[in-house]
Amino acid sequence: MKRWLISENGRFYKACLHLHTDISDGAYSPEEVKKKYQEKGYSIIAFTDHDVFITHNDFSDENFLAINSHEIEVSENNVNLTRYQKTYHLNFYAKDRNATMTPVFSESRVHIGNSSKYVTDEMRKTDVYAYYSPRSINEVIRIANENGFFVTYNHPVWSLQNYPDYIDLEGLWGIEVWNTGCVCEGMPDTTVPFDDFLKAGKDVFPICSDDSHGDSDCFGGWTMVKADSLDYDDVIKALLAGNFYSSTGPEIYELSLEDKVLTVKTNDVKNIRVITEWRSPGSKQHAPEKVGDEFITRIPMKNYREHYRSKLIYGWQDAYFRLEVNGHDGTHAYTRAFRFRDFPELFQ
Ligand SMILES: [Zn+2]
Ligand SMILES: [Zn+2]
Repeated sequence: MKRWLISENGRFYKACLHLHTDISDGAYSPEEVKKKYQEKGYSIIAFTDHDVFITHNDFSDENFLAINSHEIEVSENNVNLTRYQKTYHLNFYAKDRNATMTPVFSESRVHIGNSSKYVTDEMRKTDVYAYYSPRSINEVIRIANENGFFVTYNHPVWSLQNYPDYIDLEGLWGIEVWNTGCVCEGMPDTTVPFDDFLKAGKDVFPICSDDSHGDSDCFGGWTMVKADSLDYDDVIKALLAGNFYSSTGPEIYELSLEDKVLTVKTNDVKNIRVITEWRSPGSKQHAPEKVGDEFITRIPMKNYREHYRSKLIYGWQDAYFRLEVNGHDGTHAYTRAFRFRDFPELFQ
């Protein structure tokens, strides 16, 4: 039986899940940002201005969805960001469109761009102060999760962070593997932290975003969400279920598994790489075949299954695979990771 790894039903909507407007330090108003992104085919924007949580439900219509969200930053020594300082940046997304407050506000953090102008007495009732430590950040993430928000860990490279800074974080929904703004600043992210979380048994989803503030950092990385409709609830449901892929170029139309073979339908791409946590002899790259107008890559999972079996001996119960689709122009698309243990049909 065919099993859909990105759901068969619904349609893809192009989303930017991280950007800034003149509510904080962006150059353009939310209205202007919406117009710019809509002209480039985006249907969804999460407005993640710094620190203050401002809702944008009035922007949503039959062709556009605004997700209510914001970004916080917690820097070493709690000194506002300098170029040499480590910092945690996290995005918080409201599951409920009617949420009016973020549960993790702290006025002590408000300092970026115009954001201080938007602080209200209502916001001041919440003060979730945080220190630069995984333990303190975990407390912030826990409060967010318990109050109807989900959380991404943003641009670890730009934040000058490495393994000890992030590996103990708990309760994250997503992690940025691409951030256009950080690329522009010479700090391109990688998939290494993503794989580190997966190897630690923590399921997080890969996010490509722009984090745009002006003109130079737009339209470089996005997320394609497959949802039943553009309704807020449907899109959040699809995001939480991991029913999406992220990309800087390649398009994925179908991802399914049947008879121990993955089928991936894409646009015209160079190849697809299977990423697992083990080295393996031979190629883990698979080229598409042109069938009519379609580009179809078929990936037999038998070989990967055998490696998985041998790795079980070493206690790798959580082994995973994920796909990277490589465009002819050096761009990539990233699927979420899948755990072998969730595919008993591969072992029958
Ligand atoms: Zn940031
Ligand atoms: Zn940002």
